[in-house]
Amino acid sequence: MKTLDHLQFDNRFARLGDAFSTQVLPEPIADPRLVVVSEAALALLDLDPAQAELPVFAELFGGHKLWEDADPRAMVYSGHQFGGYNPRLGDGRGLLLGEVVNDAGEHWDLHLKGAGQTPYSRMGDGRAVLRSSIREFLASEALHALGIPSSRAVCVIGSSTPVWRETQESAAMLLRLAPSHVRFGHFEYFYYTQKPEQQQVLLDHVLEQHYPECLAAEQPYLAMFRSIVERNAELIARWQAYGFCHGVMNTDNMSILGITFDFGPFAFLDDFDANFICNHSDDRGRYSYANQVPIAHWNLSALAQAMTTVVEVEALKDTLGLFLPLYQAHYLDLMRRRLGLTCAEDDDLALVERLLQCMQRGAVDYTLFFRRLGEQPVEQALHGVRDDFVDLAGFDAWAADYLARCQREPDNAQGRRARMHAVNPLYILRNYLAQQAIEAAEAGDYSEVQRLHQVLSRPFEEQPGMQAYAERPPTWGKHLEISCSS
Ligand code: AMP
Ligand code: MG
Repeated sequence: MKTLDHLQFDNRFARLGDAFSTQVLPEPIADPRLVVVSEAALALLDLDPAQAELPVFAELFGGHKLWEDADPRAMVYSGHQFGGYNPRLGDGRGLLLGEVVNDAGEHWDLHLKGAGQTPYSRMGDGRAVLRSSIREFLASEALHALGIPSSRAVCVIGSSTPVWRETQESAAMLLRLAPSHVRFGHFEYFYYTQKPEQQQVLLDHVLEQHYPECLAAEQPYLAMFRSIVERNAELIARWQAYGFCHGVMNTDNMSILGITFDFGPFAFLDDFDANFICNHSDDRGRYSYANQVPIAHWNLSALAQAMTTVVEVEALKDTLGLFLPLYQAHYLDLMRRRLGLTCAEDDDLALVERLLQCMQRGAVDYTLFFRRLGEQPVEQALHGVRDDFVDLAGFDAWAADYLARCQREPDNAQGRRARMHAVNPLYILRNYLAQQAIEAAEAGDYSEVQRLHQVLSRPFEEQPGMQAYAERPPTWGKHLEISCSS
């Protein structure tokens, strides 16, 4: 375990030069204080958890101090936002402080979100509010605990610095970790500004650092694109299987690594609703839950367009064509597991779809349904979940087929509960839980954020005394409108 002054930096992205990022120093926030820390994320940097308690920790991640070897930079990128191209985005309020190399030799980007204005801030103040920093912190760590690839969050630092959104709020900073902060939008920027040499430098950087296994391929860039398609297919399958809605799938929010990235008005489904829109600025539902699949494909095609300078169009098209079948295979695999099925039958997808249709017509809590379905024996579990359905005839028909399907499993009853509970979480980050923790934090009490983070770090394990976190949301908490102005 290390102390803060023993972090080792190797700033590979910064070394690409000023065409890719601009050096900017963090602008400190007043009275920095630790709101919440993730010990698991600290461990990725080999940092001793006790370090988080030191005043210097809040000073470093509140923008007051900096390591000599850090090289803080605002990255330039562009991207498609809600389908329209925005030629110049970039880190408007976040800085890549540098890349830390841990004892295992892994590089982790330290990205400080809310660190003040940069040349890419446009009209923005460069700040992040406490509310959105807490939401990103909780979501990144909760997704990771669910086995869904995501950027990670080390800590939230609160402050007394005022910021204006709809009302006055306080500024915070979030320290985010990811192996890379390169987005689809990075490649779009160099493509649309017609800078092929820089595009090439960036492609080689990502290829060498993050997709080295593709270097030996006959066409390394095409092989890399294929890997990106594969990773996204798996990622989106996980989002859909667990009911995660990202909310702002603009191409500047899509990581080149295929991990969940840039959290805004995200939500997990409470009641199952395929048409659920978590972002209340998204009038047309472009980023609704069900649309996440075609939108991921659309975003990959925007990336493919940006790669047409180095790969043949037909090859890119063929590779894009892999997305949907790969997605479907991953999704079906995950849903089989969620239903406790260990072998594959031809009609399994239809079984899943019929279940979701029945759920859609009722008020069935998506997370708790699967958890309760894992109880033994299966007949009793089915009886237990039945009352939540409105379409009882539809559910009964489904339940009869599901029961018969379970009876054809090779080890039907054996281990079913343990197997299902291991993939069906009891605790998820419901918007209303986040909201309660945020309200307490805004009043100066950080204990609820910390408790919620702890509970969500072991989502599959029933934790004594934490029953309140495993309940259905109260009516007021079901359709909270989450603002984009974070
Ligand atoms: P987002 O919607 O958070 O993904 O941000 C889209 C773009 O707006 C990115 O370039 C951000 O850096 C920038 N941005 C968002 N909020 C602010 C802010 N408060 N100040 C400056 N730039 C911002
Ligand atoms: Mg963004």
